[in-house]
Amino acid sequence: PQGVMQKSTQAAKPQAGSIQPIKKLLVANRGEIAIRVFRACTEMNIRTVAIYSEQDMMHMHRQKADESYLIGKGLPPVAAYLNIPDIINIAKENDVDAIHPGYGFLSERSDFAEACVDAGIKFIGPSPHVVWRMGDKVEARQAAVEAGVQVVPGSPGPVTNADDARNFCEQYGLPVIFKAAYGGGGRGMRVVRKMKEVEENFHRAHSEAEAAFGNGALFLEKFIERPRHIEVQILGDNAGNVVHLYERDCSVQRRHQKVVEIAPAPQLPEHLRVKMAGDAVRLAKHVGYENAGTVEFLLDKNGQYFFIEVNARLQVEHTVTEQVTGIDLVQSQIKIAEGWTLPQIGLTQDKIRLNGCAIQCRMTTEDPGRNFQPDTGRIEVFRSGEGMGIRLDSALGFAGAIISPYYDSLLVKVIAHAQDHSSACAKMLRTLREFRVRGVKTNIPFLLNVLQHPEFLSGVVDTYFIDENPQLFQ
Ligand code: ADP
Repeated sequence: PQGVMQKSTQAAKPQAGSIQPIKKLLVANRGEIAIRVFRACTEMNIRTVAIYSEQDMMHMHRQKADESYLIGKGLPPVAAYLNIPDIINIAKENDVDAIHPGYGFLSERSDFAEACVDAGIKFIGPSPHVVWRMGDKVEARQAAVEAGVQVVPGSPGPVTNADDARNFCEQYGLPVIFKAAYGGGGRGMRVVRKMKEVEENFHRAHSEAEAAFGNGALFLEKFIERPRHIEVQILGDNAGNVVHLYERDCSVQRRHQKVVEIAPAPQLPEHLRVKMAGDAVRLAKHVGYENAGTVEFLLDKNGQYFFIEVNARLQVEHTVTEQVTGIDLVQSQIKIAEGWTLPQIGLTQDKIRLNGCAIQCRMTTEDPGRNFQPDTGRIEVFRSGEGMGIRLDSALGFAGAIISPYYDSLLVKVIAHAQDHSSACAKMLRTLREFRVRGVKTNIPFLLNVLQHPEFLSGVVDTYFIDENPQLFQ
């Protein structure tokens, strides 16, 4: 369902130097991220608008906005939030002058960014053209190559048949990974370790990608063994300035999905930190990146790192960067969309400093004892951990909250901020132990195991960590 956006739409862009204040902002999303954005707006005196599906009639994000409107009547739960014409209509009817897409849903759809711009509404994100280019992983790789950023060795374009795939494997050697060109959320990937498995995996990956993303286009990359996932947060403005806000380590993953995120990356050699950040900024400048984004890399055991993708949106784990830099990323996004340049809002590189270490755990309503099956029902008891250095971002963290089967299973993002990695680990462990959640199962026992594992405590884990340690599930 990716919008194929070829023309560059710059119409609603303010002239450099001209500020167009945002007075009313709609969040085209739900749950904790909608609330996160509303909070930023309320502090900035911006009126907030929620949209909600029928299934979310009673959901907390609706209560946290100044106005709320039902969308997608009669549509399935997820489709409601993907209904571009309805969202634009609601925005126009209610004098909304900006739309924040959050993460997931329409956040990486260039046709949505374009629909906003065409309706004279600011899209809080990069231009439609950049959203399109970064959303297509093959294009994004190409942009990285142009900018002189090392990419994972991979097919230069989409791989359209099993023969091409086999040729690539013969040329580059195994193992390789099939990836969906329009994939996301860790889905649509398949690792191939044996030549005779290439064909079968090609067909499987193709049909999986088609089912999940509406487009079966695949490409191939060398599979990097035991990498760390390191990503750089960037901000760009409409005058061509780009800064980085250092990096996050998101190596603790289950099935290629992030579970625990850390800022900055523990024990990352300083020369690599500087080089990765420099690459991210160069790439962003090369594509004319405006607003917040993330450049993702894999770092191998030999200290070599490779670009994998750009996420042209706010990420779930933006919180840890906020804690260690003291910069509100959502408010920065809004200011940039209003037309402020980075220097005008105090964001020059020399002023962006790191303070301590922050860790985020994604607390979910998944049962680690039953292969992380999502649990549903009513939360009967909810007592959270709290105290110095703890931040909770949530839409469901209260007794009486109904956990529905319709959306993702994120319950609370728990963020601990302390002077260094080991004290942040101790704080997170202490906080997780204070939680009491009854009525639905959560992954707290699993998170507690992670937080006590010597490898995790050492600071350096790779993306194999969870899969190689099944005792974490007990
Ligand atoms: P998504 O957009 O679905 O999140 P990514 O390209 O960001 O997909 O990859 C997600 C994760 O998958 C990475 O953090 C890493 O663990 C794994 N991965 C992706 N590409 C490779 C690769 N070439 N080699 C090894 N692991 C990979």
